[in-house]
Formats: sequence, C-alpha cells, structure tokens
Amino acid sequence: MDRKLRQNKPRLLLMGQRRSGKSSITSVVFHKLPPQETLFLESTTRIQKDSMHSFMDFQVWDFPGQLDYFDPTFDTTEIFSEIGALVWVIDAQDDYSESLNRLTTTILNLQTTFPHINVEVFVHKIDSLNDEFKADIFQDIVQRVGDELSDQGYINPNVSYHLTSIYDHSIFEAFSKVIQKLIPQLDTLETLLNVLVNKSGMAKAYLFDILSKIYVASDTRPIDMEVYEMCSDYIDVIVDITDLFSYERSERRTLGEQMEEAESSMTIQDGTMIYLKEINRYLCLVAYIKNPEAKDKKGLIDYNVHVIQDAINDVFERKWEKEDKNENGESS
Ligand code: GDP
Repeated sequence: MDRKLRQNKPRLLLMGQRRSGKSSITSVVFHKLPPQETLFLESTTRIQKDSMHSFMDFQVWDFPGQLDYFDPTFDTTEIFSEIGALVWVIDAQDDYSESLNRLTTTILNLQTTFPHINVEVFVHKIDSLNDEFKADIFQDIVQRVGDELSDQGYINPNVSYHLTSIYDHSIFEAFSKVIQKLIPQLDTLETLLNVLVNKSGMAKAYLFDILSKIYVASDTRPIDMEVYEMCSDYIDVIVDITDLFSYERSERRTLGEQMEEAESSMTIQDGTMIYLKEINRYLCLVAYIKNPEAKDKKGLIDYNVHVIQDAINDVFERKWEKEDKNENGESS
C-alpha cells in the first residue's frame, strides 16, 4: 500500500503574493502549528517542496510571492507537469489588485500547456471581516477574475473559489474540496459511505486523512459545519491517545500486542454518538449518529463499519492492481 500511495500522490502547488499566508496555511494544516504561532513564522523566501506522509502524501510547493515563474530560465514543465491543483492564496485584508493580475496571467499561461490543472483560489484571512464585507470581497474577486479572463477570450475557466482562514475549520474544508477533485475513486467512496449511513442510522460519515484532518470523502448528505467540526476535533483527541499509548504512527509499527486499528465512540448527553474507526494507517472514518438508541445498536454499527472498512481498502487495492497490469502491458 505504501509504495503505491507514494507513486500516485496528487500534487498541490500553493502560490500567491508574499505575506498572503502560504507558510501559515502549510504549517497549520500539515504540521499542526497552532494558528496564533504563525505570527512568528518567517515569510516564504524560497521554493519549498514539502512532502507529507499522509494518505495522499501530496506535496505543497510553497513559492516566494514575487517570483516570476514564467521567466524563461524557469522550468515550467518541471513545476507544473505533475500538478493536480494550483492553490492561489489571496490576502482578503490587503489590496489584492496585483495578486489578481498575477492570477489571471497564470491561468492564461496554464490554459494552453496544462489545461488539466484545477485552479483553486483561496480568498484568505477572512476571520476579521464581517459577513457582508466578506461576501462583497468574494464577489469582487470572482467578478474581476471572470471579466479579465473573458476579455482575453477564455470563457468557462476551470477556477473555483473558497473563503478561508487558519483560525477556523474553513481552511481544512477548502483543502478537502480541492483534494476530493483529485481522487478518482471519489464516487465509489461516496456510494460506500451512503450505504453505511443508511444501514447504520448515521447522520453523517466522513473519511478523514488522519495526519492533515482533510476529509477525502463523505456521504452525500448536506454538511453541517458544527457536526463536521466535532468529527474533525474528535480525531485529535483519539489520535493523541492512541499515539501516546500504543502506536508509533511515523515509525509504522505497533508497540506490543493490540488491535491493528484504533476504534472509539463517545456518547454525549442527548444520546448523540461520535464514532471513530481507523480504516488503515492513513485514513479514519468518523461518523455522527444522532439517535439515542445508537448505544444499543453499537454491535450492528461495528459490523457495518467493519464491512465498509474492507470495501474501502478493496477500492484502493483494485485500482493498484489495474495500474500494475497497465504498467506490465496486460489488458484489463
Ligand atoms: P507567506 O509569505 O505567503 O508565506 O505568508 P505567511 O504565512 O508568512 O503569513 C503572513 C502573515 O499572515 C502572518 O503574520 C500570519 O500570521 C498571517 N496569517 C496567515 N493566515 C492568516 C489568516 O487566516 N488570518 C489572519 N488574520 N492572519 C493570517
């Protein structure tokens, strides 16, 4: 599994003006730095390839804000050829005109050579803006980028926009959406999670990347931010405990005899249950069950989750087998 995952990592590229928040995003999402400590981070001054050992094992290339990467001396093929998504970070609290100019130039340049790249615009640092101002800025950015691109003859560009801040879950939510577009098995995973929630009386189920807390899939019911935040916070609690007592995640080995994957559930006052199960070394399932009878049905839930765990691991195994066949020139 590890070898295959490393080969297939979707790659993200983080770009934007200096001080827009790129290093902070990388540190908070992928290295668990508390957001307030980013105040003391050094701004990005060089290209950083940051390789993470998570389920996706994707890389974030953190670029200096002012770098002219379309300079002829720059190997654009090297930079862009293997990228799934370009994340463009805009500081919503600052004057962003120059950033928009650079963004549209970049999109136009990519359009001819790398049209497959998803451009994901993070309208960032929205934490101190009130709702009305936030909506105005968002609209202004979408409008100006769209107008500029259509003036240049580029209609329907492959660009998405997200409101983000490192001070709440919005940055994780945005990355989840970015990553989901890069997972070919997403439909199958969603179908499996739909079956699970329907059969087990769950309100919502997420499949999270344990290291980054980015969710790689969920069932297709609407997302309630409060539930999402509860599920994502629960991972930290459980992972801290399992790491402490049993399991050296980074070393990929277990200490002594134990169940291979951690499992935990917690029932709160109104009978609501949060249920967590590690699916494999990188992924965990977190479900929210808003039913006072959940405690009595725990056996059924355990069983259903176990079946889904096998199915999810199968989905990835099958993909790799297919790729092996293709690599060996066998017809599938
Ligand atoms: P970079 O040059 O693009 O890497 O920018 P940095 O990551 O160094 O961030 C510049 C400043 O923006 C730092 O002081 C961060 O604390 C701050 N910052 C980053 N993200 C946010 C955010 O979501 N909200 C707020 N209010 N400040 C942020």
